[in-house]
Amino acid sequence: MRSQKFAKGINADLFAADYKAAPFWWDRTPRPVLDDVALPARADVVVIGSGYTGLSAALQTARAGRHTVVLEAEEVGWGCSTRNGGQVATGLSGAGYPHLVQKYGEAMAYDIVREGHSALEWIGEFIKSEDIDCDFRRSGRLYGAHSARAYEALARKFGAKLPAGLQTGSYMVPKSELNSEIDTQLYHGGAVQPRHAALDPARYHQGMLDKVVQAGASVHARCAALNIDRQKDGLVVATSKGDIAARNVVVASNGYTGKATPWMRNRIIPLGSYILATEPLEKDVINRLLPTDRMIVDTRKMVVYYRTCPERRRIIFGGRVSVSEPDPDITAPPLHRQMVRIFPELASTRISHMWMGLVGFSFDYLPHMGRQDGVHYAMGYCGSGVSLAGYMGMRIGQQIAGLPEGDSPLLRTDFQARAYYRGNPWFMRPALYYYKMRDALS
Ligand SMILES: Cc1cc2nc3c(=O)[nH]c(=O)nc-3n(C[C@H](O)[C@H](O)[C@H](O)COP(=O)(O)OP(=O)(O)OC[C@H]3O[C@@H](n4cnc5c(N)ncnc54)[C@H](O)[C@@H]3O)c2cc1C
Repeated sequence: MRSQKFAKGINADLFAADYKAAPFWWDRTPRPVLDDVALPARADVVVIGSGYTGLSAALQTARAGRHTVVLEAEEVGWGCSTRNGGQVATGLSGAGYPHLVQKYGEAMAYDIVREGHSALEWIGEFIKSEDIDCDFRRSGRLYGAHSARAYEALARKFGAKLPAGLQTGSYMVPKSELNSEIDTQLYHGGAVQPRHAALDPARYHQGMLDKVVQAGASVHARCAALNIDRQKDGLVVATSKGDIAARNVVVASNGYTGKATPWMRNRIIPLGSYILATEPLEKDVINRLLPTDRMIVDTRKMVVYYRTCPERRRIIFGGRVSVSEPDPDITAPPLHRQMVRIFPELASTRISHMWMGLVGFSFDYLPHMGRQDGVHYAMGYCGSGVSLAGYMGMRIGQQIAGLPEGDSPLLRTDFQARAYYRGNPWFMRPALYYYKMRDALS
């Protein structure tokens, strides 16, 4: 489990004796290893990627009677969908309502932001109606303001007059009252969004996977799509296990989108997101530091996001500490330092798990779905895909099944590329450095 550098003693004090370089969630829900099954020669629908997007699309098409095959390059659910922080939000706040009004006009901006709200409501209903046991709770989310200016900006943002239907019931918590939410000196107050929620991401994924298999779809792990060829009578997907013909193909690879689908790769910016889990803490320490079950993010550009695990024994602490560095010996110390800045008493608390994944950003901070060269896609959740990925996957599945509810305003947004960009986000390194400096100065 430990890298070579760890064995040499670097950062040794930081890691618990039973440290794992793997998601904490995988302890609670061990990853299934699916049997190798021969790939059929054809299917009605081939889905590339077995995260929330792909499985949710597959659930719709399989239930609509379409022969559905899901391809996964690694093990099933290997990507972000079993690695994330389990913070469930509206997901579409990145682009900002005023900016969307400028770009698309009021009616369309309303519809776009409303999709985020619909996704947040949908996920709760979906988990309930499908009876998925994944520790889902509407515990609300706190935005911690890292400076007085950031607090004022939050108050302006959440106090802005939004049209009826886009209000979130959010409220401000001044610094003087913040200790009812969190025990830190770092924040200058915060804002609470009460409808936001928490879940165990790997349990949610496992629940979806069970439903997809029950619906009759077949899921092929360790089977990478290599190329998609458009032919007269449909599409042919070349895979590492042979070719499969399909009437419809769904690309659901988000931050792992690669050369098999160059049009999408040129529009998705993969960016590393990192999480550590602490060793178990004393109950009274957790209850004092984080007295509520809220999900927490803060206002820094180099965002951190954290929560307790469902049993409230550990802190699950995430942030952006690198563009894509996979070695925890390099990424754990800066992430641990971020945690200690918020909770100084955790300075000697060790890390029990550390992991990362690649989130998919778009150039306009909006998620996108649509159809290109006959191939459906949904991606670009900008680090906020727990509710959106399943929701948009569902919409894609409904479109393929010919259901009118598959329509979405996100189908009518422009999924932008850049002339200089072919999937390698070299420009993010200086950008992260700049953001770090800006956060430090504010
Ligand atoms: C550390 C971390 C923390 C996060 N925290 C949060 C959070 O708290 N809240 C939130 O809303 N969002 C969060 N996210 C983002 C969220 O997890 C994602 O937006 C969401 O899971 C995306 O789901 P997906 O199905 O589109 O992609 P993924 O779950 O990433 O699945 C894509 C899959 O496609 C497969 N694939 C790629 N190419 C091919 C190919 N050619 N052939 C076959 N398979 C292929 C990959 O192997 C991968 O398994 C976080 C992400 C990370 C990494």
